[in-house]
Amino acid sequence: FTTDRIRNFCIIAHIDHGKSTLADRLLEMTGAIAKSDRNKQVLDKLQVERDRGITVKAQTASLFYNHQGQQYLLNLIDTPGHVDFNYEVSRSISACQGVLLIVDANQGVQAQTVANFYLAFEAELTVIPVINKIDLKNADPERVGSQIEKLFDIPREECIKISAKLGTNVEKVLEAVVDRIPPPVARTDDPFKALVFDSSFNHYRGVIANIAVFGGQVRKGDRIVSAHLGKTYEVNELGLLRPEEHQTQGLSAGQVGYIIAGMKDVKEAQIGDTLYHREQPVEALPGFKPARAMVFAGMYPMDQSEYQGLRSAIERLTLNDSSVSVQRDSSIALGAGWRLGFLGLLHMEVFNQRLEQEYNASVIVTAPTVPYKAILSSAKLIKEHGSEEITIVNPVQFPDRSVVSEYLEPVVLGTIITPDTYTGKIISLCLSRRAVQKNMVYIDDQRVMMKYLFPLNEIVVDFYDLLKSLSSGYASFDYENAGYQSADLIKLDILLNGLPVEELTTIAHKDRAYTTGKAMCERLQDAIPRQMFEIAVQAAIGSKVIARETIKAYRKNVLAKCYGGDISRKMKLLKKQAEGKKKMRLIGRVEVPKDAFINVLKRD
Ligand code: GDP
Ligand code: MG
Repeated sequence: FTTDRIRNFCIIAHIDHGKSTLADRLLEMTGAIAKSDRNKQVLDKLQVERDRGITVKAQTASLFYNHQGQQYLLNLIDTPGHVDFNYEVSRSISACQGVLLIVDANQGVQAQTVANFYLAFEAELTVIPVINKIDLKNADPERVGSQIEKLFDIPREECIKISAKLGTNVEKVLEAVVDRIPPPVARTDDPFKALVFDSSFNHYRGVIANIAVFGGQVRKGDRIVSAHLGKTYEVNELGLLRPEEHQTQGLSAGQVGYIIAGMKDVKEAQIGDTLYHREQPVEALPGFKPARAMVFAGMYPMDQSEYQGLRSAIERLTLNDSSVSVQRDSSIALGAGWRLGFLGLLHMEVFNQRLEQEYNASVIVTAPTVPYKAILSSAKLIKEHGSEEITIVNPVQFPDRSVVSEYLEPVVLGTIITPDTYTGKIISLCLSRRAVQKNMVYIDDQRVMMKYLFPLNEIVVDFYDLLKSLSSGYASFDYENAGYQSADLIKLDILLNGLPVEELTTIAHKDRAYTTGKAMCERLQDAIPRQMFEIAVQAAIGSKVIARETIKAYRKNVLAKCYGGDISRKMKLLKKQAEGKKKMRLIGRVEVPKDAFINVLKRD
């Protein structure tokens, strides 16, 4: 293929607007997958993606398309829509010249539509707006067209109106890809230069790097260098993704494909890294900002005997997801474990679910926390840490006020798009989360877009769910990092029968300490089953108790109900009780269900 017959594009959209469905149609129409397969979201390969109906990992597929007697090679990258996986979108974009921006004809422009549009716009890519789901009874493509015009300054006539589900007008999308998106710049005579925009790890074959070739060509057997580590590798295999791997002899400028070169760890094929020929070094591509972890939580094996197993599961899973940061950690009650950093709460839940599903691991996850900072005032501590400013990812390590001149909390700029009937409720919710309104505009006669500056910890756990429920599912939300602000923070301890439980320690804003402490005690009261003795659940700041709940004693005798000699029923009940126990963790003498650690921060 000469470069002018190549188009590299990705599909971006708010979650559920139909990216994966459109990708399926495009794959079918170009013969990459059979129509009769009843293939659904074929690019969503992971089980969690299938369970949740969301795309977590961007996927790549090369399509062959005949247009006016010419064959074209179209490289399609399907991307995830959820805010936590935005970094997947950014890196897909850097391998493309254009995007299909999908908008649901019924829901219209949503918060992630805006965020994704700006990612593409700032990268100077051609944006093809596609209004999907025109088959829906409540579809209003005209309204959506004018929202697109108003917000993105794209003439409404440029919108392609389709039904990805039924295949209506999907042909026009392929035509637009060829006609409107420019081919990649032909630099076939340049030295070989490729961007690693994704990488995954396969137990048998090592690292598989997805690359976009920007210059020259690479062939099997070539000796290549990865700019980041400066290590040399021999290319064992390369090819196109259609979407299954399809070996070829070489890849050249403008193409997108995969490469296997004996790398043993995804760290050797870092996302954003540049590959070049050993004999022809080139200047490295600018690469990406590393994904920044925004939510930290402890992860522990259910039982210490499972430590090694869990360690290798975490290692293997992070081989495929370099955005997770891992640090060893230990706690008195939960033993040896790790402190992991994630891009957001959904990212953390997905990681956890993958550990359980793909590696059969059983884990306890502690309440999530955001990365706070403290400016130290104690000369001794400054010397110890080597700097004045420290980042706190574990509440247990929160330094006392007496050695700190200022605490800082991370803030984000949030975008909410909602039908205007819900604005009142949403504004109250935002105010209750210490948010500051920055902007509010109508995007059409019924829909409002609001911008708020939020302390990250106020939205991390449950904000999204609440926003959804108080707007009957209509409001959408997205956010971007906005640095740090000064905050009056305190450490809140939780005590069970007078013993502080490290794993439940949290950092709270001073104004919110009482409500948070009370809510945590109430949650624990509900979550911890009655036991043979009374349990006091307390929240305390230092030695001052600020909230308390009591769990009454209860002798749980499951066999009491079972008179007579019905052995099988007895066994069943005992088994059930044993299973219940398995999900419990002993803290002192108190049995705590494992999900209590993470649920304790959710508010009603
Ligand atoms: P993604 O999150 O953007 O990848 O969205 P999906 O492709 O997973 O689609 C989300 C939901 O919308 C699925 O239930 C699809 O079946 C449905 N959907 C996608 N396209 C259409 C369409 O053109 N018409 C209708 N009625 N439903 C669609
Ligand atoms: Mg999808």
